[in-house]
Amino acid sequence: MIKVIGLSKVYGSGPAAVTALNNVTVEIETGEFVAVMGPSGSGKSTFLSILGCLERPTSGQYYLDGRDVSSLDEDELASLRNRQFGFIFQTFNLLPRYDILRNTELPLVYANAGRKERRARAQELLARVGLAHRLKHKPPALSGGEQQRAAIARALVNDPTVILADEPTGNLDTRSSHEIMKIFTELHREGRTIVLVTHEPDIARYAGRILLFRDGAVVGEGLKE
Ligand code: ADP
Ligand code: MG
Repeated sequence: MIKVIGLSKVYGSGPAAVTALNNVTVEIETGEFVAVMGPSGSGKSTFLSILGCLERPTSGQYYLDGRDVSSLDEDELASLRNRQFGFIFQTFNLLPRYDILRNTELPLVYANAGRKERRARAQELLARVGLAHRLKHKPPALSGGEQQRAAIARALVNDPTVILADEPTGNLDTRSSHEIMKIFTELHREGRTIVLVTHEPDIARYAGRILLFRDGAVVGEGLKE
């Protein structure tokens, strides 16, 4: 379970200080599928970065499965991040010079997995997202929807319990968007926790719960009936 209490994040200091998050208290159950909505600049990406241990809060507490994340040092944080979280971004963040098989394997290279095991795992996941016939293609040769599917395969390679997706359909056409959301729905059915930022009500509808952010705070919450 994810539990944050009175979470705040301030960037910069003095007159240049920007409060990105202001006293956010939220619980997300294991296996929940939550959509985060709100206007641009309302703190959605900052919230996701802190959940994923990419950034630390300025104040407040964060408990992940009962563990106080603020007590972890940088190495422990990095290890937690690699084991528990899969990240998916609007811009895919694939390396353009490597084929998607290599892109998908990369997190396992950092995890010191053997070459054969890496290959097999990456191939299995790329097949799962419908890219078995594209293994040797480099990202620029693929459509946006295909690139995002490759990015999902890469995010799954360490078998994360939590998927954090920041506007994953923001650069995609409607049809590709719904294909991507079908994959998220399957990941949710497998028991993974999903926190997904989106501007689009049609996309938020796939989640079981919506958190509405404004000016760095959660101002509304909706459960799907
Ligand atoms: P959203 O994802 O909802 O658009 P963000 O979390 O990206 O919002 O940003 C919230 C606020 O924090 C914005 O005012 C943004 O300009 C500011 N901000 C975000 N990241 C940084 C940063 N690294 N340095 C300074 N200000 C930042
Ligand atoms: Mg954002």
